[in-house]
Amino acid sequence: MAAKSQNGSVGELEAFAKELLQVLGALVEEREGVLEAVLPDAHRKTLGGDGFARLAFDPHTAEKAGIQYLSLGSPLADELIAMASRMGSVTRWYINGLRWSQRRAIHLDQWKARFANARIFYDEMEIPFACHYLLFNFQVSYLSDEKREEVHTVVVDSGSLQPAPKLQEGWRRMRLEPKRDFYAPDADCLPNAASLTAAYQRSIQLLQIQIAATVATYQRRASRHFEMESLRINTFYDDTKDELRRRLERTEEPERRRTLEHKIEASEVERERKLADAGAKHHLRVALSLLNAAIVSQPKVSGRVQVQNRYATAEASVVFDPLTGALELPSCHVCHNGATTIHLCANGHLACDACILTCSACQRVHCRECGVGACSVCGRALCAHNQNRCPSCGQVTCQDHRGRCH
Ligand SMILES: [Zn+2]
Ligand SMILES: [Zn+2]
Ligand SMILES: [Zn+2]
Ligand SMILES: [Zn+2]
Ligand SMILES: [Zn+2]
Repeated sequence: MAAKSQNGSVGELEAFAKELLQVLGALVEEREGVLEAVLPDAHRKTLGGDGFARLAFDPHTAEKAGIQYLSLGSPLADELIAMASRMGSVTRWYINGLRWSQRRAIHLDQWKARFANARIFYDEMEIPFACHYLLFNFQVSYLSDEKREEVHTVVVDSGSLQPAPKLQEGWRRMRLEPKRDFYAPDADCLPNAASLTAAYQRSIQLLQIQIAATVATYQRRASRHFEMESLRINTFYDDTKDELRRRLERTEEPERRRTLEHKIEASEVERERKLADAGAKHHLRVALSLLNAAIVSQPKVSGRVQVQNRYATAEASVVFDPLTGALELPSCHVCHNGATTIHLCANGHLACDACILTCSACQRVHCRECGVGACSVCGRALCAHNQNRCPSCGQVTCQDHRGRCH
């Protein structure tokens, strides 16, 4: 790894290192910012020498305790990352020690979700189930004339596809263990291939949101470097051209003039090549690679509500999470984020504020997946039923603007 990341997130590296050491079979304990690990025999040589590793994640703690400082880009971090990619395995963890009132976990009056255009009916049936989170550790490489690397962790609920930032924040406070202490009927069934794939794709999407600001910063930096280098190249070739031109003006001899003209041409070709090279060198590429993954399971309680209005009905789950003690927000059918305000789409989908459109003709709410278009003349939203397609130009209009589109 070439360069250290300036703002690589320390918390993520720490969580990653801790998890990895546990996966490798080490006994890990954390005390005042220092990770202490008793290493299994197989990994003694590579990691600890005497079989005991003490790692700190910020230089001050490291100095104070006189121990190894683990930063991204350090040989030890590289070694951990290399080991993780060699293993390439999926590991399982359980969040143990969660307790809740077995009699009744779901109290709808405590639900932060509001249904904007529908009523809900709850049948009061509660079922405990195992929620499987997928944890992905990614290595993100920012490559241009400089190289930077970061480790990012993304956690996705494989059922709802919602991100779980709370889970990540609370990592060190929970009992994360390789054997489960709870019972749920489906606790040992892993999510099927389709939901694993969906969770993975969702994690990539969340990762891209996570790194967007950093990507923009590096992009600006790379284009600044490119501008500086182009300026240098252009100044040099402008000077060369001026000089050759001056010489050309001073000479009458045809043979000599041809040579100079040829030189001017060649120098321009070279300028273009140098600029193209610089462009390629300073072009930012972002590479994502999955280091490893883990399935983290915990018990939750689920109930069902019927969501209903004049046009449609839908079923939604209401989920109690004993880890937070709260009811989870329902997921938007379109963006998969948890939503405090939920709308019932005329086709029976539940969608958030950002993912709905109201048809200007029939006034019904539709989610963005239900083919809502717009009048090409006035721009108002139109559901599939109220779109008039023009027979001559093929554009969509509202009733008022029929035939006015071309
Ligand atoms: Zn949405
Ligand atoms: Zn409509
Ligand atoms: Zn819909
Ligand atoms: Zn119109
Ligand atoms: Zn038309």
